[in-house]
Amino acid sequence: MCKPNPISRKTFLKVGLALAAAPLLRYVPAYGAPAEVSEVAPGVFVHQGRYEVQSPDNRGDISNASFVVGSEAVAVIDTSGSAAMGQDLRDAIRSVTNKPIRYVINTHMHPDHVLGNAAFKQDQPTFVGHYKLARALGTRREGYLTSNKQMLGDAAFAGSEIILPTLAIKEPTTIDLGDRTLLLEPQATAHTDNDLIVTDTKTDTLFLGDLLFSVHVPTLDGSIKGWLALLDEMGKRKAARVVPGHGPKTMELPQALEPEQRYLATIAADVRRQIVEGKTLAEATKTAGFSEKDAWKLFDQYHVRNVTAAFAELEWE
Ligand SMILES: [Zn+2]
Repeated sequence: MCKPNPISRKTFLKVGLALAAAPLLRYVPAYGAPAEVSEVAPGVFVHQGRYEVQSPDNRGDISNASFVVGSEAVAVIDTSGSAAMGQDLRDAIRSVTNKPIRYVINTHMHPDHVLGNAAFKQDQPTFVGHYKLARALGTRREGYLTSNKQMLGDAAFAGSEIILPTLAIKEPTTIDLGDRTLLLEPQATAHTDNDLIVTDTKTDTLFLGDLLFSVHVPTLDGSIKGWLALLDEMGKRKAARVVPGHGPKTMELPQALEPEQRYLATIAADVRRQIVEGKTLAEATKTAGFSEKDAWKLFDQYHVRNVTAAFAELEWE
């Protein structure tokens, strides 16, 4: 007489359930632990991204992402480069506070700063950006999704999407988090045509997004002339601290700006001279700004693109 063995039957069920769930599991984002954040000033938290390009291993964790906690609400400032990283950032927020996440602010359009937005849909926040952000993201949506999916791989990319701002900032605007306000200032074309500076007025902390790169070579996707002009203006500002888009969690004005100013000014000077000398773009990309090579990480990945953009802008001066 043979009785069914309860253990093997249980095992059979488990295997059956696992097989049934397998097609779904393949599309579950690769969530990790809560993102590592530091409180750089009371209620101001920053996660520092790695100095890398997007990969399945880093899941788009290559840019700084921050949040500010008021007495009534939380605002997120940039959401990192994938829904999975956005979720890790959200978990970090939830380990600090249960207050509602009312605002998700993007400092500009680049995917390593916006693809984590999807993780905050559940909070039904106001998505905030420069008034030109929606157009820029609309135009580049397909390209960004395709290239980032390729770089991150299916697992790390899962759930990532482009979410357009629901509040467009055209002039300096204040939002209230309860006992503290954030000042949002849209900028003229510089790093991109949709850079937004965010200031936590309570702690005098400036979030500069990719208007400020440190260690990671700057990436030019707007106007080199506009960016240099803006850096001159920013050098006159006072702040307790600034948070770069790529670099350490906090830095100090004005010295934080100096390496980037030097880098962009060197490219502009070299390219202008070469244009006068009748050099071609191809020649410029082999020499312009190369004295900066050892000063930056990821120089080989972005520098030639920066020279190309600068040449295209400056040859029509
Ligand atoms: Zn950027």
